[in-house]
Amino acid sequence: MIDPFGRSVSYLRVSVTDRCDFRCTYCMSEHMNFLPKKDLLTLEELERLCLAFIAKGVRKLRLTGGEPLVRKNIMQLVRTLGRSVHDGRLEELTLTTNGSQLARYAAELAECGVRRINVSMDTLDPDKFRAITRWGDLAKVMDGIDAARDAGIAVKINAVALKGFNEDEIPDMIRWAHGRRMDMTLIETMPMGEIEEDRTDRYLPLSLVQQRLEEQFTLKNIPYKTGGPARYFGIAETGGRLGLITPMTHNFCESCNRVRLTCTGTLYMCLGQNDAADLRSVMRQSDDDMVLAKAIDEAIARKPKGHDFIIDRTHNRPAVSRHMSVTGG
Ligand code: SAM
Ligand code: SF4
Repeated sequence: MIDPFGRSVSYLRVSVTDRCDFRCTYCMSEHMNFLPKKDLLTLEELERLCLAFIAKGVRKLRLTGGEPLVRKNIMQLVRTLGRSVHDGRLEELTLTTNGSQLARYAAELAECGVRRINVSMDTLDPDKFRAITRWGDLAKVMDGIDAARDAGIAVKINAVALKGFNEDEIPDMIRWAHGRRMDMTLIETMPMGEIEEDRTDRYLPLSLVQQRLEEQFTLKNIPYKTGGPARYFGIAETGGRLGLITPMTHNFCESCNRVRLTCTGTLYMCLGQNDAADLRSVMRQSDDDMVLAKAIDEAIARKPKGHDFIIDRTHNRPAVSRHMSVTGG
């Protein structure tokens, strides 16, 4: 699939649920209105859509959410998609998870062909972890990470850089992750969905974090790529890799290779724009996969050039009203 700007779209991110067992303060408000169950695609419908994308050339598929591992019977979908990994149609099946349920599912994920996962963790301090996730238990996440590694799954730690919350802890987190041979990626907070706090208070540009890190580490640009938007650096002192995802300070849209499917079958061609295609209606109107393939082609033909994210005192509204948990981070 080639979009109007000549970018090849080979990466599908699927938000399998908008629900979550955490309420991270930068992601969700405390009292969220989740989608009624009847609006959700069934697992069979999700499977049909994912397979249609794989048939159209998607080579990498990431399950996300909300929290993907809280969706009931999610392993049924993982198992089906895993077959595409085993027969070579899909290069990679992966997921982004908060890790809360990982201890339970790690072995089965590995068996289904999942080789790498991202675990989101914004602090190493259990009290701060409880505060930022509102409900999370760091010990459980740590157990989940261990279980994944024991099962042979490579873990990358994702942390959102938050001013006044974890900015002083970032070097220690890097040492901790790299000491366990895990890559680590830092993410800039993006203006998506209404939350209780003012995002301007928490926004920490990674250009500044990088400058500070360079006072104690030697960062070297490396050509490593995972198919996602991170730029990678090797850190001489730890021997590990650090990724920076900088939608705010360094726009990465020119190399965008991905589209995002929500749990209601809405396809967003850009994380930061509102245009979308309703694939659920198409799918429910016809069993013919050719019709679905045509609808996917039409959507890709509308993929926009990029997002318009800004966070400052004069732009203190979300760029898009939907939360990250709807589109899938
Ligand atoms: N629940 C899973 C998790 O936390 O990994 C998957 C979904 S979560 C929406 C995916 C990623 O998006 C997480 O790493 C999270 O920290 C990040 N995220 C959520 N809201 C964000 C925002 N407003 N700006 C930047 N990253 C955000
Ligand atoms: Fe849940 Fe992930 Fe959002 Fe945190 S970032 S509330 S874990 S979906």
